[in-house]
Amino acid sequence: MNAQQVLENLQRRFPNEPEYHQAVEEVLSTIEEEYNKHPEFEKANLIERLCIPDRVYQFRVNWMDDKGNIRTNMGYRIQHNNAIGPYKGGLRFHSSVNLSILKFLAFEQTFKNSLTTLPMGGAKGGSDFSPRGKSSAEVMRFCQAFMLELWRHIGPDRDVPAGDIGVGGREIGYLYGTYKKLTHEFSGILTGKGLEYGGSLIRPEATGYGNIYFLMEMLKTKGTDLKGKTCLVSGSGNVAQYTIEKVIELGGKVVTCSDSDGYIYDPDGIDRAKLDYIMELKNLYRGRIREYAEQYGCKYVEGARPWGEKGDIALPSATQNEINEADAKQLIANGVMAVSEGANMPSTPEAIQVFQQAKILYAPGKAANAGGVSVSGLEMTQNSIRLSWTMAEVDEKLKSIMKSIHEACVKYGTESDGYVNYVRGANVAGFMKVAKAMMAQGTI
Ligand code: NDP
Repeated sequence: MNAQQVLENLQRRFPNEPEYHQAVEEVLSTIEEEYNKHPEFEKANLIERLCIPDRVYQFRVNWMDDKGNIRTNMGYRIQHNNAIGPYKGGLRFHSSVNLSILKFLAFEQTFKNSLTTLPMGGAKGGSDFSPRGKSSAEVMRFCQAFMLELWRHIGPDRDVPAGDIGVGGREIGYLYGTYKKLTHEFSGILTGKGLEYGGSLIRPEATGYGNIYFLMEMLKTKGTDLKGKTCLVSGSGNVAQYTIEKVIELGGKVVTCSDSDGYIYDPDGIDRAKLDYIMELKNLYRGRIREYAEQYGCKYVEGARPWGEKGDIALPSATQNEINEADAKQLIANGVMAVSEGANMPSTPEAIQVFQQAKILYAPGKAANAGGVSVSGLEMTQNSIRLSWTMAEVDEKLKSIMKSIHEACVKYGTESDGYVNYVRGANVAGFMKVAKAMMAQGTI
């Protein structure tokens, strides 16, 4: 079955899952040439097997709110592929969560994890429960109820979830406590854990830092770095916060960030003190980014994204499909030279085309944001050997992983005119490793 037939089959079998189709189409369109060099793949129906998740768990989660009402949400875990290691991928708690979004994320995760050089398969999960506006007691009761179902499907050598949108240190703690209670085991079953109970140094920072390490590698190919560059960041959660921190440290200036209600524009730049304010606002008080504009007297734009502002580098760090074709054209018109994705699939296919036609540096999330899962992998290793590495050790390993992902992208993505197509590079490199492992393991 060729790539087009596989895609048509998926669309027929799984209608109403547009994000899943979008992610599959993007990968298939870039690996076809490589795939065609291997007739043995076709014989083993490898593409179709790689596109359809190994299994999908779907369950109802009941929990009690602070008023004593019983509330119901949906819970999911997609175990996509474990050819190269145990299933691994985050949990997302957000009202927009559905099967299509989680299937796209689990599919992407498989290639991303393959790129990290660590032995991890691909998975994703979550719920349409949103922690926003809920008390900590409500969040805890929800996490406990969610884990009451999930625990039987996961395990340190089977499937190791982590955080994602709406699932940070607080949620991981509640989920971990429940798993421990149910199994009577203290094991490395989740990553992103607190340092006191098996977490890794640098895990909270890893996705944002890793994105900037990747960006620095890209900039190096153009003989430049971050000094004096103006950056547009979206989001103000975990990934955005540590992206901003690393940009400041390396001499760049971040003038925007956002949440789902709107964005702020601070022409003086977000400095260390302002970033501390954002961290406290978002992680402690769980407030809105509008309050930053009130605090520092800068512009706040309700219901919009920051891509119309002027900058040298765009670092989308909020959610999928947050840069459309018009945004991409605006960014190019404003002179953007690089886009490096902290979020998963933040650019639509049309936007990616605009970036690539303009021949700017463009790194897809599965390469640029792989630092998060990489340090999750390092957390698993530390749990297995029952040791904790220092901050410097983990940071050094993260840097070296991001460098090797960049090298793989250049190796597989350099085109005849010298332009590096990072999308092709990441997809082909990620695909080949998983494909070879699947072939070696037979047609199961
Ligand atoms: P957080 O929940 O910490 O932060 C998410 C941020 O994005 C918040 O500012 C949130 O605003 C905003 N946001 C969420 N949904 C939307 C939306 N539909 N429209 C506009 N803004 C939105 O999540 P993370 O920072 O962990 O994740 C951000 C992105 O990075 C996601 O795409 C995630 O998959 C990806 N990622 C995360 C990794 C990690 O290690 N955490 C690893 C690799 C990728 P609000 O507060 O209003 O909800």
